[in-house]
This record gives sequence, structure tokens and C-alpha cells, in this order.
Amino acid sequence: MKKPVIAIDGYSSTGKSSISKVIADKLGLIHLDTGALYRGITWFAIQNCMNEDSSIDLQKLFSYLDQIELEFRNSGNELILYLNHIDISKQIRTTEVSDNVSIVAKQKEVRDFLLQSQRSLAEKGGIIMDGRDIGTVVLPNADYKFFLTASIDERTNRRYFELAGMGIQADREQVKQNLTDRDKIDSEREIAPLRQAEDAIVIDNTELTKEETIDLILSHIQKI
Ligand code: C5P
Repeated sequence: MKKPVIAIDGYSSTGKSSISKVIADKLGLIHLDTGALYRGITWFAIQNCMNEDSSIDLQKLFSYLDQIELEFRNSGNELILYLNHIDISKQIRTTEVSDNVSIVAKQKEVRDFLLQSQRSLAEKGGIIMDGRDIGTVVLPNADYKFFLTASIDERTNRRYFELAGMGIQADREQVKQNLTDRDKIDSEREIAPLRQAEDAIVIDNTELTKEETIDLILSHIQKI
């Protein structure tokens, strides 16, 4: 039997990736955190394509796209992102990347560059992919689609503690502002905006633990 294709979309810091990872382990699926790919390209841009005013030179980035190789490698229980054979899993979580990623992700050239590889990975089934446009654009025929949301204060807390856990000292107000800014840019962009698919199951997990959210998703998968 072909294993399912599951799309998980939603707002920033609703737990999409960590929840998808656990579901992938439980159901024997591959997990692809597509946000990490956009973050990887943003990290590359910060290293190689900065203007003097600290903005990203997008034209330069577009001309370099064919020199970017992104690859996930297994390390124990973790998927580690490599950019041109260098582990960048820690760098892509920095505030510098979070502050620039939505501008990079809104560019057609960048989205086109990543679209085909995301689709090819899902061809054989057996995958759970999380992002912003998975159920609407990348995998519109996914077997199951979920859209996660939670209050901004709860999401701020989660992100703040996630960063602290990685040894990154952040300012709570700045974290909140970054989440709000990214959600706005992601929702208002022209190409593949953050939007729930018509056939997605919406889960507000403000009051739910990670485990409760996972159980709820699994209960839908087993029911359908
Ligand atoms: O999921 P994460 O918060 O790491 O994603 C970082 C950013 O990457 C998002 O704010 C969004 O701008 C972009 N992204 C996207 N489409 C996806 C996944 C992420 O535009 N499928």
C-alpha cells in the first residue's frame, strides 16, 4: 500500500516542524521542513549577497541560485541541513535569518527554484511536509491536509523558549514582532501566500500541548 502524503501548513511557531517530525517517526514517513530550505537560501544570501545598507541584493541572489545545493542528511534522530556540504542547521535559526527570510521567500525565482525538488520528494508517497503553501501549491493532491494556528502570545512564548533552548538569547518583543511581520509578508505575498487549503483541517493549538496536537492529527488520519 502506498504510504500517505501529508501537508501541514500554518502560522509561524505553531509547532509545525516538531509535530511533523514526531508524526513522521510514528508513521514511518520522511519529514521535510520546507521552511529550513527558505532559511538556507536566506543564510546563503546573507553570506554572499548583501548590499551596503544591509539589505539583500536579490538580483545577485537570483544569479547565484544555481550554485546553491541544499541537502538534508540524517544524524541520529535529526535531519541536518547542509548548504554546499556545510552544516548550517544552527545558522538558519538565527534572528538575522528570521528577519530576512520572508523577503527572500516571497520572490518568484526562489519559489520556482525550490518547487520542483519539493514535489519530486513526494512522488513516491510516504512523506509529511510542513510549510506555508504545501496544501495549496506544492502538494494540492496530498492525502491529508492540516492548517495550524495559535494565538500570537502563545506562539511568541514557544519561539522564545525554542531559541533559549538553542542557546540564542532573544528579546521577547522582538520575537513577537518578527512572527507578526513574517505572517503578514507570508500572507500578503502574490505567489503562494500563506493560506489554508479549502480541504484542510484547521487546528488551533493555543490551548493544546504538542502531544495533544499530535494525537488530534493522528486521530484524523486514522479516521479518514
Ligand atoms: O517554517 P519556518 O518558520 O522556518 O519558515 C521560515 C519562512 O520561510 C516563513 O516565514 C516563510 O517566509 C518561508 N516559507 C515559505 N513557504 C514554505 C515554508 C516557509 O514561504 N513552504
